[in-house]
Amino acid sequence: MTSKRSPVEGPTTAAGIGPGAGERSSALRQTRPRTEGWTQKTDAEGRPLLQFAAPKRGKPPTHLADLSHEDRVAAVQERGLPAFRASQIEKHYFQHFTRNPDSMTDLPAEGRSELVHLMLPALLTEVRRIQTDGGDTIKFLWKLHDGALVESVLMRYPGRITLCVSSQAGCGMNCPFCATGQAGLTRNMSAAEIVDQVIQANRIIEDGGLGDPKKLGHEGERVSNIVFMGMGEPLANYNRVIQAIKVLTDKKHGIGMSARGITVSTVGLVPAILKLAEEGIPVTFALSLHAPDDELRDEMIPVNSRWKVEEALDAARNYFEKTGRRVSIEYALIKDMNDHAWRAELLAEKLNSRGRGWVHVNPIPLNPTPGSVWTASEPAVQAEFVRRLEAAGIPTTIRDTRGKDIDGACGQLVATEADRADAAQTPIGV
Ligand code: SAH
Repeated sequence: MTSKRSPVEGPTTAAGIGPGAGERSSALRQTRPRTEGWTQKTDAEGRPLLQFAAPKRGKPPTHLADLSHEDRVAAVQERGLPAFRASQIEKHYFQHFTRNPDSMTDLPAEGRSELVHLMLPALLTEVRRIQTDGGDTIKFLWKLHDGALVESVLMRYPGRITLCVSSQAGCGMNCPFCATGQAGLTRNMSAAEIVDQVIQANRIIEDGGLGDPKKLGHEGERVSNIVFMGMGEPLANYNRVIQAIKVLTDKKHGIGMSARGITVSTVGLVPAILKLAEEGIPVTFALSLHAPDDELRDEMIPVNSRWKVEEALDAARNYFEKTGRRVSIEYALIKDMNDHAWRAELLAEKLNSRGRGWVHVNPIPLNPTPGSVWTASEPAVQAEFVRRLEAAGIPTTIRDTRGKDIDGACGQLVATEADRADAAQTPIGV
């Protein structure tokens, strides 16, 4: 990994925010989440700016994946075609990952090209791809119809392929440790723009982008898991994200993935978490908590001014009760900021007070972001944090930091055309 940052001793405050008596030693540092090297945008009252509504921009063209199957049928019928033409186009796009009319020889030649362009307009244009981890991780930069840029990250693991997708261009949640938030929210992505990231990834896998499937003995393999952990706050773009998930999981008229293989990660928009629990789609749910106490979370996660730790945890527990799906708590471990052993214990206490077996914790070693003065926790501190959680009976798994050297790991996606020069890059001529 390349780290340009030097170890930083941030401002410390007197210990006493919550540590037990034995831990109130002078060795206990408390770095506060202040930004350095960039300025966090603020609202009229001087608080970190939160953007829930996306700025108005020209809408991307409507695409088959934005519509229900019935509306797709209506669209072909409007052109005087029989309903089954909609199913044929669905199959080409969702199962064969193509929008090339030349390969759709089962459609009548006359008017084929117009029909296909109408139903499957171009949404994502590849600008660049960067590959690392011995070819097992690829970060894509996509340009949308209006020039907005987004990224997705494709990762091969033993037995599965995961795609980390974006749900918004930029992000309005303004978390000081996350690179995506620094430029604010450009716009919401449409459902089809979200889905097209998966289709394009499947096409690239089939074409050998992660290695020749034939040689690897992996013929027919495709994206098996999706994490909404790219750019954006998925629950701030609720309706389009739900439509995308419906298409991803639709076995008859969509891609047909398992809902369990799809993870929706949120900063903690409580009303939307409650709504998600009622959708009847058992996706995996992840809450970006990062601190068990409001005093620190208020500073790390600006949306904590709306919904506090206890409310977010109640909503996560409710998700488990309604869906039976064990939820994840994400916790970026930041040196001297939130990695204190007493915080692991406080977290375990708050989780255990809501029952057993409903939750696991996913600590994420902090990934460097531009201008950030913080660093990941020391290995021994990280190990102690995990030990305390496990000792309290909380299953805990450290998240791997795939793609860190290409700025493709959690919190590093900014989608600029000028990226690090030291990584192997393939510019695509756009
Ligand atoms: N908006 C969603 C998805 C964000 S990215 C959310 O907040 O959950 C997925 C995870 O990466 C989140 O848990 C996010 O807090 C975390 N993350 C952000 N910046 C990070 C960084 N610099 N290092 C490690 N994890 C980070």
